[in-house]
Amino acid sequence: MKHMKTVLILEHTEEVFEKLTCDVCGAESKWDENWGTKEHEKIITTVQLEEEESFPSGGQATQTQYHICPACFKQHLAKWFESHRNSKASVSTSVW
Ligand SMILES: [Zn+2]
Repeated sequence: MKHMKTVLILEHTEEVFEKLTCDVCGAESKWDENWGTKEHEKIITTVQLEEEESFPSGGQATQTQYHICPACFKQHLAKWFESHRNSKASVSTSVW
């Protein structure tokens, strides 16, 4: 879950990112969409359903997201997938 806080910016208020929390265990990250704990780390998890309809007169889109930390992704979500119909993850690696 993204937690937003209200801050005063030049005589107006707006929603700005405060912290990211895991919807399963409550773990926190100070980075938006990044679970890394060090500045050189980038650890992103994505569990999202995006539904969109687009017509000439307009449209609508609905996004449903779960924010889940890497530990819960591996310990809970991946195990759930693997225990249901033997689902396998697609894994790719990049080196630079
Ligand atoms: Zn978690």
